Amino acid sequence: MNEFGLIADLVLSQTVTRDDVLCGIGDDAAIIEPDLAIACDTCNEGVHFQADWGPHAIGHRALAVNLSDLAAMGAKPTHALLALSLPELDTDWLSDFKKSFFKLASAYNVELVGGDTTRGAMSMTVTVIGRVLKPLLRRGARVGDAIYVTGELGAARLAYEASKGRLAPQTEILRRVMHTWHYPTPRVNEALAFAPYVHAAIDLSDGLVADLDHIARQSGVGAVIDIDKVPVAEALKQTVAGDEACRLAMSGGDDYELCFTVSPAYHNDLLALAEQCACPLTRIGEINAGSGVSFERAGEAIDLEIKGYDHFARS
Ligand code: ADP
Ligand code: MG
Repeated sequence: MNEFGLIADLVLSQTVTRDDVLCGIGDDAAIIEPDLAIACDTCNEGVHFQADWGPHAIGHRALAVNLSDLAAMGAKPTHALLALSLPELDTDWLSDFKKSFFKLASAYNVELVGGDTTRGAMSMTVTVIGRVLKPLLRRGARVGDAIYVTGELGAARLAYEASKGRLAPQTEILRRVMHTWHYPTPRVNEALAFAPYVHAAIDLSDGLVADLDHIARQSGVGAVIDIDKVPVAEALKQTVAGDEACRLAMSGGDDYELCFTVSPAYHNDLLALAEQCACPLTRIGEINAGSGVSFERAGEAIDLEIKGYDHFARS
């Protein structure tokens, strides 16, 4: 059983189905009637952040990844809860953690309304609540839709690989990608701007291919990525040659960009919105009547084996 098998098992084991749950387990956030979105994500030391990350980065990340899930759901964030587990009470550590957490919270007018504090291995679980302006479900993609991603992909993956000693970017590149990895920017305002056009959306936490596969499966369609269109982070292209940079960008996690599908008729409207939001936006492919995620280059199908992040995958 892997991570998603475990989640599917929970879905099958539960016996309660409430009428007020418009979207339960399986999307970026739950939607509860009439318009409440709720999501929760954990950050564990050694998994989501490393022991050498400072508290400032950890505080930002803990909230940012949750706001990203609300964005992907078409929700405007309103409240948060913070369950904090710390090995000891270090006031300096807490001071820096708070600084970045509340800075991000105030940028989106999010009030911390509760949580829990315990001694244990360092870990934080943030629960966020938001108001759904337009539900952006994973299951809404339609055949013929164009597939878009915001921003650039693969900088966080490069930072992660560098932290493991597997890639060695130049010093200045390393500094930049470490910052991108430590301080993901949730695309909240962008998601709400694009929302009226969007058929299906997800935020990229496990890697483009793995996350787009959720849209494809849940919508009962296929997704074709034109690999020459993928906006691979410049830093990754400068560090890794050829197609390997694109492969890393498509399989790497922690981008916290948005991936969504829209009828191709609205391409120009989307580009205009993207410009207004100062948000890079790239059309990377198309939804078809097939299944899963496939790849093409210059109109020709190509074979690629790409896996995303799975907490319980057997390697
Ligand atoms: P995301 O990457 O968007 O945070 P996940 O892949 O973590 O989403 O989770 C997929 C779906 O499964 C989400 O709807 C999430 O709420 C749900 N889920 C994950 N773990 C559990 C759990 N232990 N109990 C109930 N639902 C869960
Ligand atoms: Mg998500």
